[in-house]
Amino acid sequence: MAHRIVILGGGTGGTLTANRLRRRYRASEASITVVDHDDRHVYQPGLLFVPFGLAHPEDIVRSRRRQLADGVEFVEAAVDHLDTDHDTVHLEGGASLPYDVLVVATGAVLATDETPGLTGDGWMEKVFTFYSLEGAAALEAALTRFERGRLVVNVVDMPIKCPVAPLEFCFLADWYFHERGVRDQVEIVYVTPLDGAFTKPTASRALAGLLAEKNVELVTEFNTGEVDGAGNRLVGYDGREVPFDLAVVVPAHGGAPWVGRSPGLGDSLDFVPADLHTLQAEAKPNVFAIGDATNLPASKAGSVTHFEGEVLVENVARFLAGEPLDATYDGHANCFIETGFHKALLIDFNYDTEPLPGHFPAQVGLPLLKESRLNHLGKLMFQWFYWHGLLPGRDIPGITPAMPAAGKAALASH
Ligand SMILES: Cc1cc2nc3c(=O)[nH]c(=O)nc-3n(C[C@H](O)[C@H](O)[C@H](O)COP(=O)(O)OP(=O)(O)OC[C@H]3O[C@@H](n4cnc5c(N)ncnc54)[C@H](O)[C@@H]3O)c2cc1C
Repeated sequence: MAHRIVILGGGTGGTLTANRLRRRYRASEASITVVDHDDRHVYQPGLLFVPFGLAHPEDIVRSRRRQLADGVEFVEAAVDHLDTDHDTVHLEGGASLPYDVLVVATGAVLATDETPGLTGDGWMEKVFTFYSLEGAAALEAALTRFERGRLVVNVVDMPIKCPVAPLEFCFLADWYFHERGVRDQVEIVYVTPLDGAFTKPTASRALAGLLAEKNVELVTEFNTGEVDGAGNRLVGYDGREVPFDLAVVVPAHGGAPWVGRSPGLGDSLDFVPADLHTLQAEAKPNVFAIGDATNLPASKAGSVTHFEGEVLVENVARFLAGEPLDATYDGHANCFIETGFHKALLIDFNYDTEPLPGHFPAQVGLPLLKESRLNHLGKLMFQWFYWHGLLPGRDIPGITPAMPAAGKAALASH
């Protein structure tokens, strides 16, 4: 009998996993089913550009179904819960899907309700988020009207998707207000719960330096307890206040709520505990997890999802063949950081190695931790690669799931 492979979530991870598996198995060997509650696949890195008029919502949304290879079944329905005892997914509306192997790829959700006041007075008027398509589009209109005052960019809590995106927002805001000739009338403030601009020391120093260079004030160790839209201020748990005229907030994140309704599957935030190197879920051997849905200490990023995908697909195949799993996922993450004025930085790291200077992927390549126009072009080209390379599950010559050490001077000498 053909193996029944069910993939929950048809975003970055679910789509590339389905397409890679379809190439691996003939139809007679495995059925592959992807479940998602809508047919709108958003290219999420594009959300950063929408508020600045550099991308339009319609440019970054495509049909999910059309990203799936022939022979992958798409079920447009919401997952209600999972019954691991009976290897069955229950969908809202009562239908159910039995499986031999399940892949959880339902990503992360914005937990806007976690922060008192966030969606209260002033929401979508002077308090916005660019982490949703609707929010990014509404923010574009608000930025167009904004020519004087205090713009505060606030990360409520970690983990968040693409932890560098709020920093990129500050850098682009600096560029945007310069272009409009009003930069000296706009204060830009970055408010983070971290003790520096970023999590990893070398990158944190480099990014704090860039913020200072661009005259962006950095407020650290701020845990947002309330967004007071009527009073135009963020209030921290420690009583500190940050006034704003326009607030751009990245809400706390959690896993998909259905995970919480599935006994034994998720942690307290509804992320799915999984093996750091094989991506097998702790809940049961025939369940795997990929991307933002996992509790792995890797960035919640498309690049991570991409690198995980190769190892995960190998492991689904090994599991079905009764072979030992491949334990080679090393936490590899790779992010372009847009810094404005047509430049970008690139960082490359994994569980053990923080972002270091050098070049990617080898001694000759894109500069790491250094602003360049080449990196900016790389960031722009990434959208093309996303739809035509990453989602179809194509391998890229020279780019492997494992983090390359060759271009990193500090490592290459060891
Ligand atoms: C503003 C922003 C900028 C970013 N920039 C970058 C970047 O520059 N580089 C980078 O690498 N990454 C970036 N990312 C992160 C990247 O987009 C994500 O890490 C990546 O999409 C994760 O893939 P995923 O498959 O885990 O989740 P997703 O792609 O989010 O897919 C999850 C899917 O699950 C579905 N789903 C959820 N719940 C249910 C349910 N109950 N039933 C059915 N379906 C459900 C959702 O509809 C969704 O389609 C950015 C993200 C944001 C928000």
